[in-house]
Amino acid sequence: MEHLPPTETEPAECACAYNAPQLLHDPLTGLYNKNGFVTHGNLMLQQLAAQGRSTVLIYMELNDYDGLICRLGYDASLVLLTTMRDRMQEVFGTQALLARFDSERFAILLPDGHIGIEGTIHALEAPLRIDLTNYHLSLSCGVATSTDPTDNMDMLIMAARSAKQDAQRAQRQVGWYADDMRRRLARQRAIEDGLWFARDGSGLSLVYQPKIDIRAGKVMGVEALLRWRHPELGAVSPAEFIPLAERTRTILPIGEWLLRTTLNQKYIWRRDGQDIRMSINVSPLQLETVTDEASVLETMTRECRRLDLRHEDLEIEITEGLLSNAEVMGQVRQIARAGFGIAVDDFGREHSALSLLVNCPATTLKIDKSFVDNVVENERQLAVVHFIVDLARRLGMETVVEGIEHLNQLVALADAGCDYGQGYFYYRPLNPDQILELRHRH
Ligand code: C2E
Ligand code: MG
Ligand code: MG
Repeated sequence: MEHLPPTETEPAECACAYNAPQLLHDPLTGLYNKNGFVTHGNLMLQQLAAQGRSTVLIYMELNDYDGLICRLGYDASLVLLTTMRDRMQEVFGTQALLARFDSERFAILLPDGHIGIEGTIHALEAPLRIDLTNYHLSLSCGVATSTDPTDNMDMLIMAARSAKQDAQRAQRQVGWYADDMRRRLARQRAIEDGLWFARDGSGLSLVYQPKIDIRAGKVMGVEALLRWRHPELGAVSPAEFIPLAERTRTILPIGEWLLRTTLNQKYIWRRDGQDIRMSINVSPLQLETVTDEASVLETMTRECRRLDLRHEDLEIEITEGLLSNAEVMGQVRQIARAGFGIAVDDFGREHSALSLLVNCPATTLKIDKSFVDNVVENERQLAVVHFIVDLARRLGMETVVEGIEHLNQLVALADAGCDYGQGYFYYRPLNPDQILELRHRH
């Protein structure tokens, strides 16, 4: 392919206060910045597509950049960046469009010529020698190829970036953007867009899964579980949309809606003659975001006062990971002091540091489903359940076992002394009328 000179598109005189070339270039390295990269990249994409050729975008990140800067000192860090630039120019040649996005992130756009990416990265990672000391460099990369003439630079950058993130999660150096990733990203984007419209509760609903007193066989309470119908995608599982709602912070208005709706539901059940204990899942972000007007505690206290509900009939479920977050636990302690119950959800699934239970204000431990799955076949699993139940009892907490699906699991768990059970063996999540009917029967 012909060398593609980056035709400068800046107007000769810029009306704004900044120096125009800087709007398209990174001032430290002289490479394109993101803006310049996108502008010229789109041109290059079009030119190559017109020739029936595909284009490759490599997104690169220097690992441990902050550590490197600390070791190098701020001035020498400029040497690092310019060295990276020189090496990139050398290995990718003049046909490539090179950019530095921000601190440690670089991008390269070049015609698809089947470059050996691993060897190329190896050359970029050669140690940096300053004042007789070698500094070792390491890169993480994502690669995306465009073969579709309707692709644009935004899509390609996002694709290469998520390929890099996937690689980092899998502890690999290079990630390749595959077609199923394209579908996954499009779905993620559709979910994030849809969640924006769900802020006021549109498309959201709640189901309630009974918690059963294992010895008495009675429904002692319910856990509220969120359901969402996306306008185009249909029903989306909370396991999929809640992490995205957290990422985009739409979990905050949704969480507020959820608290108001569940407390209102509790009020309606009581009006219809059934006082049912309610547990509500609360996301970490809701507990981190506390202002004078809005917090989980404020909403719950206000709604309880309005609807004349008792605090002790309500419980929030937090994940065990939060126990080590001092700031959030301060909030949780205040919620506990106000008389609301606190349950630690999915206990034992990840890193349960037992020391964190010493000062934990929780009233309930919910033993994770993963313990239940093999509790019959695996004696050691059962031994751990016995241990958790005993520990909880000594700490004055109750235990709920999640995800009971079979009678023989229930028998083993009852024998271990678990207080309450929840799972498909008893009931799947039900709608509000079914809960009422169930309570009338019990
Ligand atoms: P979780 O709070 O641990 O909820 C239990 C999940 O296990 C629910 O899935 C429930 O339907 C499912 N489950 C219950 N019994 C069984 C069983 O016997 N077998 C199996 N295989 N599954 C069972 P769901 O409703 O899909 O929720 C998944 C997760 O999404 C929840 O886990 C919770 O972390 C989150 N979530 C759900 N609703 C909310 C909410 O209102 N707010 C927040 N922040 N998170 C929520
Ligand atoms: Mg839960
Ligand atoms: Mg759970």
